[in-house]
Amino acid sequence: MAASISSQTENQVQPIPFQTYWKDIKPDIVDIRHQIHAHPELSNREFGTAKLVAGKLKTLGYSIQTGVGKTGIVATLKGRAPGNIIAIRADMDALPVTENTDLPFQSTQKATYLGREAGVAHACGHDIHSAVLLGVAQFLNATKDQWNGTVKLIFQGAEEGPPPGEEGGASLMIEQGALNNPVPQAILALHSFPDLQVGEVGYSFGPAFAASDKFSLIVRGRQAHGAYPHLSVDPVVMAASIIQNLQTIISRNVDPRKAAVISVGTVEGGSRFNIIPDQVSMTGTVRTLNPDVQGVLEKRMNEVISGVTKAYGGDYQFDYERGNPVTVNHPGLARFARQSLMRTLGGENVHEMEPTMGTEDFAHFANKIPGFYFRLGVVKPGTISGGLHTPNFRADDSAIDVGVRTMTQLVLDMLKKDGLPGILKNQTP
Ligand SMILES: [Zn+2]
Ligand SMILES: [Zn+2]
Repeated sequence: MAASISSQTENQVQPIPFQTYWKDIKPDIVDIRHQIHAHPELSNREFGTAKLVAGKLKTLGYSIQTGVGKTGIVATLKGRAPGNIIAIRADMDALPVTENTDLPFQSTQKATYLGREAGVAHACGHDIHSAVLLGVAQFLNATKDQWNGTVKLIFQGAEEGPPPGEEGGASLMIEQGALNNPVPQAILALHSFPDLQVGEVGYSFGPAFAASDKFSLIVRGRQAHGAYPHLSVDPVVMAASIIQNLQTIISRNVDPRKAAVISVGTVEGGSRFNIIPDQVSMTGTVRTLNPDVQGVLEKRMNEVISGVTKAYGGDYQFDYERGNPVTVNHPGLARFARQSLMRTLGGENVHEMEPTMGTEDFAHFANKIPGFYFRLGVVKPGTISGGLHTPNFRADDSAIDVGVRTMTQLVLDMLKKDGLPGILKNQTP
């Protein structure tokens, strides 16, 4: 493991001793992680978390903008002289999950979610991400006379999606200028990953997370007594046929070498065992890693639903809503970043991974400027963690150390890279 981080001066490479600075910074950053973890807040409600983050950044002397995209914060730091401009993003929101871990700072918080009281927990590790970025902020600030360029730190809310009827997240931050003045050349982010141990990281070339779309469908027929089906237009039978036929889109219309998912998540209809209802409604999610496949799925879903309901003599209302686009790691940047990660952690701890069909709001940033997103191992050897979004998800404090070290090294490597614009033009995987 590298114990120091280098920065280029005009004539020589001077090491910035990471451990020397980090030793002093670490206790405070770990304490902030505990505070954020113990007081989690749902999407678009990260007021306390944002206040804590903004307070720390102000203490460090950062000039900050608050309330960007509801609760987001943008902080800019200039080094010794002008140079490359790099952004790093962390997310701050928690989930309606009741925590069940042995962490001494575990959350006992509750909040109202969709009209019901729910436990709230950092079951997606965003407390780790915010703490890591504050650690990076503090290290960069302490060494700002030793590197050139500008770093833009973006703390965003509502990564998990704003509540129904509200705006929020990365797209709103971009709309409100998070990527302007100055415009970063590239953006970085990391995410806690419970399938890797502390000390390991993973990354993908090209697509890393899926596009996530949402659909809702109402199938309308004609109500009748269950004993007289010939007098009905049965929406239950139509819905069943539609559900089956949607899966044939995956098996018959999508190139089998390309990933795609259509999942129906809710089906509702009917009021009594012997009444054929007049309608059935359903909702679901569509996941893809390629915009062409996404287009095929949307088009074929329309055709299948229209064809099936017509064949049965029914009617329908279909709404297809595009959500996060695919999160694509810029190929040139990913190659550069992989080298940096390997230098920091050793090649055996840096794993190339398959993309997941999960989704990431970071896609909005990475669609505007070249992006690189990697997965941070958070499970301490000898302990176990549940999956992301589960009550047993458990990220160890020691992951903060690795997150700060890898992210700081990566951003310093990018700041000192003379040929960065060339790397960012290279789309070859
Ligand atoms: Zn999540
Ligand atoms: Zn997350």
